[in-house]
Amino acid sequence: MIKGTFPVEKFNRIETPFYYYDVALLRKTLETIRNEVKDKNYHIHYAVKANANPRILKEIASYGFGADCVSGNEILRALECGFPASKIAFAGVGKTDKEIEIGLDNDIFCFNVESLPELEATANLAAKKNKTAKVAFRINPNIDAHTHKYITTGLNENKFGINEQDLPAAIEFVRKHNSLEMAGMHFHIGSQITDLSAFENLCVKALELQQWFEEQGTPLQLINVGGGLGINYQHPNHCPIADFKSYFHLYNKYLKLKDGQSLHFELGRSVVAPCGSLITRTTYVKKGVSKNFLIVDAGMTDLIRPALYQAFHHIENISSEGELENYDVVGPICESSDVFGKDISLNRAKRGDFVALRSAGAYGEIMASQYNCRNLPKAYFSDTL
Ligand SMILES: *Cc1c(COP(=O)(O)O)cnc(C)c1O
Repeated sequence: MIKGTFPVEKFNRIETPFYYYDVALLRKTLETIRNEVKDKNYHIHYAVKANANPRILKEIASYGFGADCVSGNEILRALECGFPASKIAFAGVGKTDKEIEIGLDNDIFCFNVESLPELEATANLAAKKNKTAKVAFRINPNIDAHTHKYITTGLNENKFGINEQDLPAAIEFVRKHNSLEMAGMHFHIGSQITDLSAFENLCVKALELQQWFEEQGTPLQLINVGGGLGINYQHPNHCPIADFKSYFHLYNKYLKLKDGQSLHFELGRSVVAPCGSLITRTTYVKKGVSKNFLIVDAGMTDLIRPALYQAFHHIENISSEGELENYDVVGPICESSDVFGKDISLNRAKRGDFVALRSAGAYGEIMASQYNCRNLPKAYFSDTL
């Protein structure tokens, strides 16, 4: 069994559980993305919500990428960590006045607007400040991303985006308000998408809409196709970097841009998921009636994805080379859903063994909570440990 490489001796002096980030892998990933887009009018806005650890953000900003934010505080965090305001896009169905003002005061790149009332609020707030807000309409393309229902966002039944019926009114509204500037259209159909045909369908839809906007006399400066590229959670050691080549190739093939038009991507998970692992110690190995439980000191408060969306994380006992045995790997939280994996084959475990939950760099640390009065997990980095 191939396992990840971890500095286990160094872990001995650290209190568990904690997040461990492989900085070399993060850099390799960022390098890969930069190479794939370098000769094109493609722009990457890293989706801050996937992981807002300042060290990670600074690393990503240093590659020249922009940020995609979904709250006022994310905008402030992104700015603090070196993302230029001119590369910050702001999405979200429920932007408050205060948050819109944060965007306006910092002259961010673009507001991805999700409803007519939000368009109105943005116009009014911008007018008061004598500013022009650049807006892109987030359009709900009614495309099935074939992913878990909690992370599908592009269907008509989802709360996101402006419905197609409202588009003429939205265009009209922007025309009538000098405090708004029409920038383009925005989509985000879901997350952990591994069936790339969903993106192909999105391209077809985007071209149709692009045509329609032209017919309305509203050419678009930009198309923003959101994020959603999935990673291989099953085989983190074989496939440590997402298939960016196929992903960008697909857009290049199916989404022909007009002269001067730019294409924007908001990648989150695919950038940061593989480089992070949640490291936990085995508290007890408990023999059940019909199975063995590996009780670890990390719980759903540290990594909620398995409990929240039945997500799979590859699990390894990084302290043992013993024979393989099957365990249910569970946390200490008083909830039956506090299970990281059932019937997981691991090297025979004993008390104190370190266990790594792999591919936890996205929607891991940032979603941690203090339920059961627990401490928030700390983060350590491969190059400074
Ligand atoms: C969450 C989100 C993303 C990032 O999605 P990933 O699946 O992590 O790539 C991009 N855009 C918007 C608007 C989002 O809400």
